Amino acid sequence: MRAVISDIHGNLEALEAVLNDIRSQGITEIYCLGDVIGYGPNPRECIDLVMKCKVVILGNHDQGAMFDPDGFNPPAERAIFWTRDQLEKPGGERGQIDRRWDFLGALPRMHRDARWLYVHGSARNPVNEYVFPEDIYNQKKIEKLFSMVDFGCFQGHTHVPGVFTESRNFMTPDETGYSYKFEQQKFMCNVGSVGQPRDGDPRPCYVIQEPTQLTFRRVEYDPTITAEKIYNIPDLDDFLGDRIKQGR
Ligand code: ZN
Repeated sequence: MRAVISDIHGNLEALEAVLNDIRSQGITEIYCLGDVIGYGPNPRECIDLVMKCKVVILGNHDQGAMFDPDGFNPPAERAIFWTRDQLEKPGGERGQIDRRWDFLGALPRMHRDARWLYVHGSARNPVNEYVFPEDIYNQKKIEKLFSMVDFGCFQGHTHVPGVFTESRNFMTPDETGYSYKFEQQKFMCNVGSVGQPRDGDPRPCYVIQEPTQLTFRRVEYDPTITAEKIYNIPDLDDFLGDRIKQGR
């Protein structure tokens, strides 16, 4: 059994709740699909926890913190600059600061494991491409993406969990009954977001991967604590606090 998490975005309370849930099921192998930081108030603490995952993939916000952020809207960009300052902030020992940058700098863009592929965005453009539910109407895009997937692809980036099948179906966790059995068809699974869900459900989401099925998990936590931290940091837009309470 393996847990696949994504899009933590500096939300420590959500990450701790998810790690507890994973632990309570006896799962020790965790893959993280990126965007550990950006938007949320606890980037350093989240990086330190995610460093313990077996595999961590580079997300666009992780990349934005290391290089000149490109293609972000103004609040996201401001959050990235604030995040970068936090990672540079003295207070911790220099070694720990360097360790975090080294960790981010070494993140791979994808991970392949037998017939499984793990990316932040998509098989075609691992760091930046969004695959939204409505893309099932874009036959060319879906065909191209599946041509690059051996059997199953795990991804994040949109913060909208669900399963895409080769026959251009999209099923939300609700529609799968929270578990999906693999059949012959290839699939792409969006594992949802730990720190900033956007499917109308504010509970952190992640996926348990087993040899013949996957299970979506939603975990309870109190988003008002994280939102309050965001409201108290001028460089983080209040909307970022509102949205984690609303799951949008
Ligand atoms: Zn993200």
